[in-house]
Amino acid sequence: MAEEMLIRISAFLGVLGLMAFGEVLIPRRHLTTSKARRWVANLSIVVIDAAAVRLLFTAGAVGASMLAAERHWGVLNHLSWPNWLELVLAVVALDLVLYLQHVMFHAVPLLWRVHMMHHADLDCDVTTGLRFHPVEVVLSMLIKVSAIAVLGPSPQAVLSFEVLLNATAMFNHSNVRLPATMDRCLRWIVVTPDMHRIHHSILPRETNTNFGFNLPWWDRLLGTYRLQPNDGHERMTLGLTQFRDPARLTLTGMLLLPFTGRPGDYPLSHDR
Ligand SMILES: [Zn+2]
Ligand SMILES: [Zn+2]
Repeated sequence: MAEEMLIRISAFLGVLGLMAFGEVLIPRRHLTTSKARRWVANLSIVVIDAAAVRLLFTAGAVGASMLAAERHWGVLNHLSWPNWLELVLAVVALDLVLYLQHVMFHAVPLLWRVHMMHHADLDCDVTTGLRFHPVEVVLSMLIKVSAIAVLGPSPQAVLSFEVLLNATAMFNHSNVRLPATMDRCLRWIVVTPDMHRIHHSILPRETNTNFGFNLPWWDRLLGTYRLQPNDGHERMTLGLTQFRDPARLTLTGMLLLPFTGRPGDYPLSHDR
């Protein structure tokens, strides 16, 4: 347990520090609002999310995989394939579940209300990758625990997936400029900042693309991939049309957003 926490915290702080440094050194876009205010709000959300998950899911997703192994739940707990193969399969399968969950949070108006807090950020940087409403984080955990019960991955596979996801979410939300060739090559194996930024576009037809957080394949295979934003990365507007006032996006404002904010034209099911 202590070792698990150490792995999580060192990976989190390491990637956060690295990307934050990269954003200062080689920024991709000029920030449009106060970085200090956004960072205070976004990092406060991280603390609230962590507390909510600890409180409701004491043993977390790793604990769920241990329980599944003990009770012989899940496909992988009935197979004796090599550990490395089960780990790769579990990471890929959990990533597909996450992609489908993300599409669902855009498609269902009620879920979009919860997810829109992530999209309401007026700039996109490393902390945006950590900014999810506590209700979304709790629902995500319920989906993940259910997927673990069906799949039966090892605790190592679940920990690897969670650490990897946390790291890639910070990487692909970061405001770091990568050389075009590097971006093109990386896009075959991981979602890059230029790929995910399109998902934060103010234009609904761009917001509803590039749903992947970790592996870029699902968007390409399932028809939601977009190569570049219409207005280019430097000129495109980020955020949502209905939330343009930074003064409303305080910590309290963000937590209240699903209940007080208008969902706008974003849900996929909205008539246009
Ligand atoms: Zn989204
Ligand atoms: Zn995002």
